[in-house]
Formats: sequence, structure tokens, C-alpha cells
Amino acid sequence: MDRAFRDTPTVVDVGGVPFGGRGITVIAGPCSVEGKEVILEAAGIAKRAGAHVLRGGGFKPRTSPYAFQGLGKEGLRLLKAAGDSVGMPVISEIMDAAQLPAFLDHDIDCLQVGARNMQNFTLLKAIARAGKPVMLKRGLSATIEEWLQAAEYLAAFGSEGIILCERGIRTFETATRNTLDLTVLPLMRQWTHLPIIVDPSHAAGIPALIPPLSRASIAAGADGVAVECHPRPKEARSDGAQALLPGELSGLIADARIMAAAVGRSFVAPVRV
Ligand code: PEP
Ligand code: MN
Repeated sequence: MDRAFRDTPTVVDVGGVPFGGRGITVIAGPCSVEGKEVILEAAGIAKRAGAHVLRGGGFKPRTSPYAFQGLGKEGLRLLKAAGDSVGMPVISEIMDAAQLPAFLDHDIDCLQVGARNMQNFTLLKAIARAGKPVMLKRGLSATIEEWLQAAEYLAAFGSEGIILCERGIRTFETATRNTLDLTVLPLMRQWTHLPIIVDPSHAAGIPALIPPLSRASIAAGADGVAVECHPRPKEARSDGAQALLPGELSGLIADARIMAAAVGRSFVAPVRV
């Protein structure tokens, strides 16, 4: 993944949607899959807003063991069905190698490695061999070097499609959930040819901050953004406080198109159904 060995950007294909290269790509959806109706509703919202890939967690890494842990394999089934209903590929977080058959059975288009598992090398090795694209989130306190080494694990063990995702790091600041480190965009561009996207939802944790941080991310060179949205954030079973409302998601994506043009990039054409 070192630019010294390959100068052209890698384009990663996620179920027909490109990440990297000239285009700007948007991942949107709820934090977790909560049930059939609500994920179908969220898929419609993401699709109408112009997003490319539908997100939704089946296996959730929650800080408290008493918080909603996700619907597991059933969540993956519902996510895939919702994605199919609107013609969108899907991404979901894998926390353990034992979950891999469930992801493959339901043909989840992209495996998300969450911040808490960035250095779970056993997991990285296991999923690298699975032949699916992987989105590797930056660890809560990971240096850029550690993050790239984790990506190197994936590449060394056979992964062909790797997308990096900056999601904020832990600092002394407590006003926001994490601190978004936009430095990685211009800096890592010099070091790696892999696509890099930004998740401002988990970085900021506050809906009003997500649209401006998305614009800033694209301006600084991100290949896309990943954001959480929910039809009724107050009812969400995880991360409702940071979920965008449908209208807010549409506004963010309209701005992303403008921002993409302003920096000489194109907005990836959403898959037609
Ligand atoms: C998520 O995407 O819902 C998530 C848990 O993200 P992170 O691993 O960045 O905390
Ligand atoms: Mn979340």
C-alpha cells in the first residue's frame, strides 16, 4: 500500500460502487440494524438522499454489556435484504472471525473492522483471506503508523480491497465524542495509494457538526464519507444522539456533490435500480 511501490490510487469495488480514484462515495445508514421495517425505511432514506452504500451493524461493540448488542446474523440478513430492495451494496462490522460465515452466507459486500478491533491481528488475518473488501477504521488511540501496519496485515494475508476510515481519535477534548484528525488526509495521501474515507458521525457525535466536517473532509482530500442516519433518531437502539434525520442526510449529500466539484472530483453516480 506504499506509494513508493504504486503511484496510482487504488480503486476498491464494493458491490459495483467504487471507492478511491476520482470519485467521492457516501456510506449511510443506521448504527445498528434494529428490525425489518426500520432498516427498509433507512435504506429508502439513504437511497433517496443519494448515498451509495448502506450501513448497519448486526454485531455491535457496545461499551456497556447491558446495551443492545445487535441482532447478529439475523441483522445481516435484514441488512442485505434492505440493500437489495433499493439496489445498494451493504457494509457491516465484523467483530470476531467466528462471525465470518454469517457475513459470507449473506453476501455482505464489505466487512467493516471497527476502531476497537483495528489491532485484532487474528481477526485481520482471518478476514483477509475471505475475498471481500474491508473497511479498516482507525483505532481509538492508534497512530497513523499503527493504522497503516494493520492495513499491511490485511494486504499481507491476501486482502485486495482495503479502504481506510478515519473516525476520530481520543484526545483530552471532551466536548465532542472524539477528535477528528483531518491531518491524515493530506499526509497519508503521500504515503499510501489506498482510498481513505472519513466517518464524522463517530468522530463528533453531534449531528450539527457532521455536515461541516463532511465538507471539510472532502476539501482535505477524503474519497468519501460514512455517516449514521435514522428515520427517528430518538427511537434508535444505538447512537441515536448522533444520527442524522432524513432531511439532514439529503442536505449533506447535496453539499458533498458541490464540494466534490469544487475540488475537481466527481460524485460517484448512484447505482440505478
Ligand atoms: C460503528 O461504525 O457503528 C462503530 C462502532 O464505529 P467505531 O468502530 O468507529 O467506533
Ligand atoms: Mn455507531
